[in-house]
Amino acid sequence: MAAFPRMTFEHEMKFRHAAMEWLAMRTNDGAEPMYYLDIEEFEYDGAKIPLRNRYKGIWKPASFGAALSFTTKFTKPGRERPYEDAVGSDGLMRYKWRDGGPDIPDNRALRAAMEAGLPLIWFYGVAEGVYQAVFPVFLVGEEADEQQFMVEVADMDRLSRDGQIFSEGPSLSVVEKRYAARMARQRLHQPVFRSMVMRAYDEHCAVCALHHVELLDAAHILPDAHEDGIAAVTNGLSLCKIHHSAYDRKFMGIRPDYVVEIRTDLLNEVDGPMLRHGLQERHGERLLVLPQQRKERPSSVLLEKAYLRFREVA
Ligand SMILES: [Zn+2]
Repeated sequence: MAAFPRMTFEHEMKFRHAAMEWLAMRTNDGAEPMYYLDIEEFEYDGAKIPLRNRYKGIWKPASFGAALSFTTKFTKPGRERPYEDAVGSDGLMRYKWRDGGPDIPDNRALRAAMEAGLPLIWFYGVAEGVYQAVFPVFLVGEEADEQQFMVEVADMDRLSRDGQIFSEGPSLSVVEKRYAARMARQRLHQPVFRSMVMRAYDEHCAVCALHHVELLDAAHILPDAHEDGIAAVTNGLSLCKIHHSAYDRKFMGIRPDYVVEIRTDLLNEVDGPMLRHGLQERHGERLLVLPQQRKERPSSVLLEKAYLRFREVA
C-alpha cells in the first residue's frame, strides 16, 4: 500500500523543474558545491522532499514514478576514481547500475526516468559530504552488458524549453558531434574540478594568496591532460584571474619545486603596482598557498612539463 499518491508525469516535471531552479540559485548556476545537509532543505508545495538520499546512490522519492537523482561518491585523492566517470567513445558519461541485477527497484527507477525522458540531478562528490549538483542530466541509453546507463549532461535551456530530449539527429557532422560531446562533458567536469581545487587551496590564489573566491579560477597545469575524465586535483592550481592568465600565457612559470618565475622581459619592464607587486615581486618566491594534504598538491611531473613549455618562451 503506497503511503503517498503517485505524482502525475506533469507534476513530476514541475517538481524537477522547481528543484533544479532552486539548485541553480543555491549553487550560483551550478558553479559551487553544496553540503549534504543543505541539499535536504528543498521544499516544494510546503513539503520537504529531499533531492538526494543520504544512504542511497539512486534516489526515487516514494510518490515518484522514476528516479529523481543519483550520486557518485567522493574518491579520496590518490585512490582510483570510480568507474562511473567513464566516458564512452560517443562522449557520453556512464553511470553504473546498482549491484543486484537489472530489475532491482533502484535500477528500474533509473530506467523509468530514461523511458519517460525525465530530467535528473547528478550529485557528484567533491569532498566528504560535499556534492557538486549537475543538472539537468538525461539517461539516453542503457548498456546491459556493461551494467550501466548512458548519461547526457544538458543545460538548463534544454529543460525550460519542454523538458524533452532533443535528438542530435544524423544531421550533425562528426566535428559538431565531437564538439557537443565535449561541451556536455565540460558541464560535468568543470564545476567538479573547480570545487575540488577551491577546497584544496581553501579558496586562495596559490601565487598571491588572494582570498576572494569570485576572483579565483581552477587552472589546469596541463590543458587537456584528462580529456576523458575528471581532471585530478593534482593537475590543478587555484589562481586569481591575473595569475591564471599570466600562467596560461606564459608570462609566469611555476617550477616543480613550487617556485614562481616571471618572464625575463616582464622583469625589466617598468609599470604600475600590479606589475611590480603582482608579478615582478613574485619572481623567485615559493607559492604562498598549497593544499594542506600532500596528495592534493600539484604534481611535480605535470609542473615540470608545463615549466619546460614556459622556458621555451621565457
Ligand atoms: Zn594571484
